[in-house]
Amino acid sequence: MPADGYDDNDSPDAQEPSASAIFAQIMRQAAAKAAPRRVRRPAPNFEESPSLEPEVEPPQIRRVRPRLAVPRPRSGSFASGFLGTIFVVVISTALVATLLMFFVDPEFLNPLVVQGLQLDREDIVNSSLPTPAQTPVWMQRIGIISGHRGRDSGAICDDEYGNVLLREVDINFAVAQRVVVRLQARNYAVDMLDEVDPRLENYRAAALVSIHSNTCYDFGEYVSGYIAAISEARPQTGIDAFLRECISINYGARVPLRRSFTLTEDLTNYHVWRRIHPLTPGMILEMGYMLADQAVLTEDPDLLADAITAGILCFMENANGVPGTVASGASPGYIVPILATPTPVYLR
Ligand SMILES: [Zn+2]
Repeated sequence: MPADGYDDNDSPDAQEPSASAIFAQIMRQAAAKAAPRRVRRPAPNFEESPSLEPEVEPPQIRRVRPRLAVPRPRSGSFASGFLGTIFVVVISTALVATLLMFFVDPEFLNPLVVQGLQLDREDIVNSSLPTPAQTPVWMQRIGIISGHRGRDSGAICDDEYGNVLLREVDINFAVAQRVVVRLQARNYAVDMLDEVDPRLENYRAAALVSIHSNTCYDFGEYVSGYIAAISEARPQTGIDAFLRECISINYGARVPLRRSFTLTEDLTNYHVWRRIHPLTPGMILEMGYMLADQAVLTEDPDLLADAITAGILCFMENANGVPGTVASGASPGYIVPILATPTPVYLR
């Protein structure tokens, strides 16, 4: 046992003093500094004494002597005390910080930090669902452009006083939103797009269909019918042509209008063709003329939407697209055009 009795709590095999032992040591030091130091000395060595009988006097003398002696500074105790203080401060800080964490409002934290700490709910759901195949999202995506929406009114019908009676943009939107609803019911991812939608830039989807109505201009003769067109830059037997024919044949089968082949620059050089991704099949449909075919265009938008939806399903389920999910046994409800074999250009 050391003379100053500092390490009397240590077990022989302990390599490092415990925090409580260090704390007790520090408290003892502080008490020793505050109060007049009283050094306990061990009992006199009887082995050194020649006689077997212990003397009474020497212990009393020895007890006085240390009291008079100037306490020598102990360098070792100063260093260990300093380190112990640091240790206790660090432990206390950690404890207080941990306790305070329970009172911190989560809103106070940086949202990015919180986001990084949390698993997205969708990620958890998706990771637990079995996926039959890794299907690119764009292969299930269908873009529907509601013609002129967000840009202008399109064609208009007016009376002799200039009052607007009918706007193309309204006809198109009534049909387009119904098509979107029908496709979504089949679990396709559908984008309702404006005429100059920023998403059209390099737009990637399994199919893009732009829905329009033709002019209300009075040509002086009977001008009627629907027109289906693709970009003039696309091959006439390619995937775009198959999309065009799917829409056209199914539209003509349901809507009481004849197909017109009056292609104009507006259709074959449509501004959208220059913006979308080169591998996105696209077609534009003029549903009918707003003068001669006005009743068809305005009286039953559900019929027009059903016809266009059938055409899109024809394409999605027969042109290497990904079929939507629908109750088994349900009739596809569309006609597949006989066309030169569509050449799928999807990248695998
Ligand atoms: Zn238009």
